[in-house]
Order: sequence, then structure tokens, then C-alpha cells
Amino acid sequence: MTDSNWGDPRAKYIIGQPQNLTVDQKFRLILKLLRKDFPCEYPVKVRRLIYPFATDKAPWGDCGLVNEYKPGAEKYFLIRLAKKADWCRQFETLLHEWTHCLTWHLVGNGKDHCDSFARRFGVLYRQYIED
Ligand SMILES: [Zn+2]
Repeated sequence: MTDSNWGDPRAKYIIGQPQNLTVDQKFRLILKLLRKDFPCEYPVKVRRLIYPFATDKAPWGDCGLVNEYKPGAEKYFLIRLAKKADWCRQFETLLHEWTHCLTWHLVGNGKDHCDSFARRFGVLYRQYIED
């Protein structure tokens, strides 16, 4: 797998779209597709922000299940993306974090990046980037 097609006009999700979509338009497009194609157990909110929580492990974003341990409170996934990163990086990070939302049970088992995660990520990659 190369990273040459991330956010590229040849990427599948963008084929047939108007030329020169802005980053905001690409972001809204992929978010709409993800919500339709890969719904998660809970709603997913995505924030692009000045990401102050960067670590060696998660330099470009992260995700969490808000109110996971609050009985009765509405639960939702929150994905945070570093908006200073270029679109390719934000896109890659969004797909990565969305895969965590889809496989949230693995996170609790400390297997967040196991083979099962990678296979699921591959499905998203093939859906939106290239076969
Ligand atoms: Zn991860």
C-alpha cells in the first residue's frame, strides 16, 4: 500500500465530484459517505481543531467514546483531527479513527491495532481510495 492516493483526485470517493473541491467540501463529503456506508454503534462527531493532545502515538488525531462510563447519558464517538495537517493526512487519520469507532470493542481489550482492526481499515480504504 502506498499513500500516493490519499485525498488525491484519483481517489474513488472523489471521482465524479467537481474539480478543485476545497478541504471543507472534501471533509463534508467523506463524512457523509462514512455515516451512510459505515454507521457505528453510536453517532460520530468529528472536530477539526488545533490539536493540542499530540503524542508520538497520536500526532494527528484521536477518538473516544464520550460518556462511556456515565449511565443514562447519551453516548457518542468524538474524533478530533489536527486541522493544521494537510488534507491527505486528515483524511487518512479520519479513516483510521473511524475504524476505531467501528471496532471499539477491541480498544477495551488493548488490541486497538490488531489484525482485525487492519482488515476493517482495509475495507474503508478500498471503498474510498483504490481497489
Ligand atoms: Zn489508532
